[in-house]
This record gives sequence, C-alpha cells and structure tokens, in this order.
Amino acid sequence: MIANEKLKVRRNTLPSRPMSAPSVNRQQFQKALADWYDTNQRALPWRTQPRLYRTVVSELMAQQTRIATMLPYFERWMIRFPDFESLAQAPEDAVLKHWEGLGYYSRARNLHKLARSYVALETKPGTPEEWQALPGIGPYTAAAISSIAQNYPAAVVDGNVVRILARLEDNRREFSGNAEAVKAFTPNAETLLNPEKPGDHNQAMMELGATICTKHNPLCTVCPVLQHCRSAANDPAELPKIRRKATETVEIDRLWIVCSEKILLHRIPLTATQLAGQYELPRPADLGIQTPTGKPIAQRTRAITHRRIREKIHACKTDNKKLSDTLHWIEIKELDAITLSGPHRRWIEELLPKHAQAKV
Ligand code: SF4
Repeated sequence: MIANEKLKVRRNTLPSRPMSAPSVNRQQFQKALADWYDTNQRALPWRTQPRLYRTVVSELMAQQTRIATMLPYFERWMIRFPDFESLAQAPEDAVLKHWEGLGYYSRARNLHKLARSYVALETKPGTPEEWQALPGIGPYTAAAISSIAQNYPAAVVDGNVVRILARLEDNRREFSGNAEAVKAFTPNAETLLNPEKPGDHNQAMMELGATICTKHNPLCTVCPVLQHCRSAANDPAELPKIRRKATETVEIDRLWIVCSEKILLHRIPLTATQLAGQYELPRPADLGIQTPTGKPIAQRTRAITHRRIREKIHACKTDNKKLSDTLHWIEIKELDAITLSGPHRRWIEELLPKHAQAKV
C-alpha cells in the first residue's frame, strides 16, 4: 500500500463521535489550539529545521528528559551524527559517549540500532505500526514520529496529553498507573485530533501541557482552551488522579581510590541490561572487601522514578595486586575519553580538586 492510500484508510477510521465532555466543540477546540500554537510555540531546533531524522532523535532524547536538559545534547549529536547513515556507521562507543550524562542509555543503543535498521530497509516506515517494528519505538513515539514528520493522522498520548484531557472533561476517576490512564484517554485524543495537521496538533497539545496546563500550577487564565475546560474552576491541579508507587530508598556504598594520578573504576559488563560498558566508582563487593568504617567523604542522593538512591563515597586504598577484570586504573587525564555514568562524572569532578588539595 502506498503512503497516500494508507493515509486515506487511517483517516476513514478516525472516530467521528464527540469527546465525552459535552462542552468541547471539536472544530473550535482545534482552531483555538492551532492559533495559540502558531504564535506561542518554542523555537526548538527540530521544529525550526524539521527533518525526519531530527524528529526521530528528538523524540528518543525527550523520553524521560526535560527539553532544556536535552537541547545541548541534541545540537552536539547533530554535528557528530547528522543523518541516519552517519549514525548507523558510528561505533557504539562514540554513540554512548555523545549520550553521556543524559541517562537511560538503552535509548542511545536503540537509536543506534534503529539507524542501522532504517538504512538497511528497502521500504521505509510510514505508519505508526511500521515505526513500532523498529528498536526503541513504542506506540507514543511511533505516533509522534509519523504525525510530526510524515503528516500521518495518529494521536499522541503522553503524560502531558492525559493531563489536559482529564482536566478538559473534569475526569476524577482514579487510575492505577500511567498505562491505564493513557489507554483510557486515547479515544478522546483521537477524537480531538486535527487530521489535516496531525503533527502540529500533537505538538500543540504537548506544548500546552508543558507550558500552560502544567502539573502543579495550571495557568488557566491565559489558556487558549479555557472555554472548553470543565475543571478550570474546580481545582484542576488535582487531575489526573493517578496512584503513584511508594518511594523506595536504596543505600549504596562507593569507593574513592586514587593513587599516582590514577583512579580505580569499575566497568559495567557489556552483557549488563543497564549502563553496559560504562565506568563508575566501584562498590566494596567489586574488590571483595567490607565497607570501610569511618565517615564517608561525600554522600549524594538522587531519584530515579520511584527509587531514592543514597550513595556514600568512602576514601580507601588497595594493595590488591590481582583485581577482577571489571576493575581498571584510569589515568585522571584520560577521564574525558571514557564513558562515565552521568552522576559518577559529576561526583568525580567535584571530588578530584578536594583530593588534590588534601595532598598539598
Ligand atoms: Fe488546563 Fe486550565 Fe487550560 Fe483547563 S483551562 S486545559 S485546566 S490550563
């Protein structure tokens, strides 16, 4: 089936029923949203210079990451890997190095695999279903890429969109998690989608959620769709009601072992499912020793989804001549050349000057 035929089939299957909130007039809503987006959208680099490849990279980078954080990474990435071909040909080390600090490295690996699959495909993907056959592409990303870069009428439904839809219809139902909420609101998102300009419509919804209909402090008085919203006067910040997992605290001990301008680091095995091949400060178990007693030289806490990770860093020495294969003495001046897990690079950069001062 050629792309135009696919498009027609998809348009004919779009739901024609109105959204459950009777106050929403579909055409008026689409127009109010489009007019607002035309004049208020942020000038993001994948919008000012739109191209399929740039959309794909931006969508994968934006997963789990704030736009402001990813912008410098996106610019650097485009210089080093300007298209699918250059990314497909790059060694994995270079790809991971350019992702260093963004976290969730499976996205970088998937993007790399995706580029290799894409250049090898004779027939390029053009529908959400075809995009979903490529590595790292779920329903949300597939709808985003095909609508934004290929004008395919698929509605994207992420946390921003769920929040707007729940508030528009003042939906106070409690959901057991994000997945259930996304499933429940997908028909409404499809109903509201503007099939003539699906990419702009989807981006406008995401932009509205990111800048106006925000989680804790929705700016209803300046909202372009205020007249369609049933919760504006009814504490919209409470919506959507999604049960959150209880926070779990995890404690991890790390070792700071620096000797003769070298630091001892642990390299995560290439077979690991997370952070494979990256370096980090070792744990006592990596050296087969007990956690040193005494006050740690630093303590850092970070949060990953529902986990609160508290890491204590202990200064330590080793006379162990036979270190395991995963432990490596790295020259301090070579640290920039290796891929360090993001927080570990920050900690090392903070602690090295203190270490140098202590020696004086
Ligand atoms: Fe969100 Fe307020 Fe706009 Fe409703 S009026 S969509 S709650 S910002």
